[in-house]
Amino acid sequence: MAPENPSGGGSIKSVLHETRVFPPPADFAKDAGIKSLDEYQALWDRAKDDPEAFWAEQAASLDWFQTWDRVLDWNPPFAQWFVGGKLNASYNCVDRHCKGPDRNKAALIFEGEPGDRRVLRYQDLLREVSKFANVLKGLGVKKGDVVALYLPMIPELVIAALACARIGAPHTVVFGGFSAEALSGRIQDCKAKVLVTADGGWRRGKVVPLKVNADGAAALCPTLKSVVVYKRTGHDVDWTPGRDHWWHELEANVSADCPAEPLDSEHPLFILYTSGSTGKPKGILHTTGGYLLQASLSTKWVFDLKPDDTYWCTADVGWVTGHSYLTYGPLAQGATCVMYEGAPNWPDEARFWKIIEDYRVSILYTAPTAIRAFMKWGEQHPKKHDLSSLRLLGSVGEPINPEAWMWYHEVIGGGRCPIVDTWWQTETGAIMISPLPGATPTIPGSATRPLPGIIPAIVTKDGVPVGENEGGFLVITRPWPSMLRTIFGDDERYKAQYWSDVPGNYFTGDGARRDEHGNYWILGRVDDVLNVAGHRLSTMEIESALVSHAAVAEAAVVGKPDEIKGQGISCFVTLESHHAPSEKLRQELRAHVAKEIGALARPDEIHFTESLPKTRSGKIMRRLLRDVAAGVESTGDTSTLEDVGVLALLRRGGQQEE
Ligand code: ATP
Ligand code: MG
Repeated sequence: MAPENPSGGGSIKSVLHETRVFPPPADFAKDAGIKSLDEYQALWDRAKDDPEAFWAEQAASLDWFQTWDRVLDWNPPFAQWFVGGKLNASYNCVDRHCKGPDRNKAALIFEGEPGDRRVLRYQDLLREVSKFANVLKGLGVKKGDVVALYLPMIPELVIAALACARIGAPHTVVFGGFSAEALSGRIQDCKAKVLVTADGGWRRGKVVPLKVNADGAAALCPTLKSVVVYKRTGHDVDWTPGRDHWWHELEANVSADCPAEPLDSEHPLFILYTSGSTGKPKGILHTTGGYLLQASLSTKWVFDLKPDDTYWCTADVGWVTGHSYLTYGPLAQGATCVMYEGAPNWPDEARFWKIIEDYRVSILYTAPTAIRAFMKWGEQHPKKHDLSSLRLLGSVGEPINPEAWMWYHEVIGGGRCPIVDTWWQTETGAIMISPLPGATPTIPGSATRPLPGIIPAIVTKDGVPVGENEGGFLVITRPWPSMLRTIFGDDERYKAQYWSDVPGNYFTGDGARRDEHGNYWILGRVDDVLNVAGHRLSTMEIESALVSHAAVAEAAVVGKPDEIKGQGISCFVTLESHHAPSEKLRQELRAHVAKEIGALARPDEIHFTESLPKTRSGKIMRRLLRDVAAGVESTGDTSTLEDVGVLALLRRGGQQEE
């Protein structure tokens, strides 16, 4: 949809200049799958020159029951990949690893919040997935029927998703922190017949009442016929006979044999609703062959996965990162994945670091919101633990401020681990822009280069490419296998949302610039761009300047209507624990931003606050802050807001000053 920015076609002025560069460590590059920038470039060029041949070669890394007739059918903006091919995602993630010694390899290492532990080897996963696929069949689920999953972060979430994939029932995972209303909205939108949930899950020592919410949602959903309940916490729950079934009771009576169904490459794999940072969440549809290929391939490339790695993606399976990089990507690669149920600060702020030490985690993939929280809690927590097993760190979900990048690099990575800052979206299905750790020099704040097969461009609103180092709209110029196929049930919205702004190109909604070395710098969402006295400024850059001040933990910047300048710069700032808000600090921060990136970006207002409004996936919701700054009521969708109280507090004026 057209960004609501009054200045129309102008490019975005980039003011942040980062000069620290970290080449891949020599011993890392020596053993990496892709060892040099030249090697990367050759692969990227080959993919650009002959994309269909390139993707066909890569697709041979999956197991197909039947090969495709055509690599791509492209009726813009509708793509079909590997047409005529048949495969099964669950087979690729499980069965094929059970044919040799990997059957005894750990697929999932699970740790519950209370400290309970379970390890599922690949052959355990095969048994559990097959049994649950038979359970679903027994409930009448047929190929094409949608199944909703509303579970805590326990192995059963992965098992249920793979069981759906096994029988061709698209799943829709709804994050366990969502309310009954949010859950029912999603169930109704995709017309799910079966809901899989649990009696509860553990979060900060308390039970998350999943079954209570599931009951509330079910009452509003006429299409829903059955609710399967996994016993996780063991507390009492209400029961609707005929509709509700215990997972363990259904499973007691089924066979552990359920051959994976050969499915068309374009068979729907899942529907997933976006985070809702910019508006009402969209039901993104992904299909089987193209999605699985890119999830798997990007896992191998970006995380440089080795057979003996212990890989931990901290994202919840309720978000796309948990789909592509905790479930389909790493399992298709036969990796050993750590899965953790609970909060990062339970029972204390060192929980993540203890998990890394206990399991000797070698690859950690997490989000800037978590990294900023760890910084705020202080480095005494990671310092208590042995993090020497780590060899690679990843970041996803928001732009990572350079100061947070440096902290991650030094305090967590001990200065030796490359950081892959991975840019992508629910819609793209897989990582699009990211360093390859053995090949690409990394720079704090830059996602660096597009993966082979991905051809982005940075353009003005009229589709004209912008110059070097000039900010503009990030678009993808060619279809790619893991691209969304549509917004579920709404082809028109799909066309309008992604393909009408810059005709012929997929419009990401994000702004970016490319530097003289070919590195991409994501500038944040174009809807958030400020227009100050005719200059379009990126929120991300002003936020990074604020975060580089020692007193600031986190910052969100929005535009506020201003009669003279068009927009004034309004900043919401949370402070590090040992700093207190004051007028003096406010003036210091304004001067700091002006010094770091120029007088043009000097904030008009700085509001100190205890916390910022975020989506439940941890992203700052600037659209709500825009309303607070303008003093108007918020009318948009707030169903994915983490804590409604934060907004009320901000409207009352935030934090008291000294
Ligand atoms: P909605 O589309 O409903 O507003 P959302 O865009 O937050 O929600 P996601 O698909 O979860 O939903 O997030 C994708 C967005 O997250 C990207 O468009 C981008 O703005 C941001 N993002 C993700 N990774 C990065 C990254 N490494 N650097 C900068 N931004 C990132
Ligand atoms: Mg989005």
